[in-house]
Amino acid sequence: MAYNISTMHIWRLFNGDCVCPMCKLKTKTEGEIAEMYLSEAVMEDAERAKVNKYGFCKDHFDLLYTGKNKLGVALQTSTRLNTVNKLIKPTDPKSCAKYAKKLREEFIDCIICRTLEFNMKRYFETVARLYGDDEKFRRQFETVKGFCYPDYIRLVENAPKAGKYAKQFLEVLYSKQKSQAETLSKDLNDFTMAFDYRSGGLPPKSAQLSLIKSRIIFYGEKPTIPERK
Ligand SMILES: [Zn+2]
Ligand SMILES: [Zn+2]
Repeated sequence: MAYNISTMHIWRLFNGDCVCPMCKLKTKTEGEIAEMYLSEAVMEDAERAKVNKYGFCKDHFDLLYTGKNKLGVALQTSTRLNTVNKLIKPTDPKSCAKYAKKLREEFIDCIICRTLEFNMKRYFETVARLYGDDEKFRRQFETVKGFCYPDYIRLVENAPKAGKYAKQFLEVLYSKQKSQAETLSKDLNDFTMAFDYRSGGLPPKSAQLSLIKSRIIFYGEKPTIPERK
């Protein structure tokens, strides 16, 4: 199943309306990929074979479970169980450690993680390229508040793809990241101050949201299954 990345989503999500536009891109992509594994398309042989081989990580299993196709999840889980079960064999004290290591590796992968990473890699490259190629995008980039730390790291890493604008791209990323941290630091401070009995009253709204914002800035946004139309 092919998932197509679109620069249109980048244009739409790169604005000051969120904590991290890369997270918005990621949760959108992740939700749509998960949705594909809840659709009829996954019943095709090639897709079933991939699910059997890689399975789902716990986060993506949980995500699929929140969706509306429990039958699909059960069928995929059942065939994956057969694959895993074939690997469960008798062992002995001499080879059990090696066998356990090999077995553990079977559970590291995930078909949704793989598909998501394949697409996000292209999104990170595309953002840097757009910054290098398009004056209008560079102006729009100014409206962004900042990024979560994991995505900041990946944008920094991809900066050379902005070509002759790479240096400017890094400078803009740096200043956005610093000012976003400054705002968060102030909000966290206002929030903690509100616990002081002398403060009297609720902290401002931005301070009340400071821990939710911290969750996104440190770890990125949680994915959700998109609403079916
Ligand atoms: Zn992010
Ligand atoms: Zn996963």
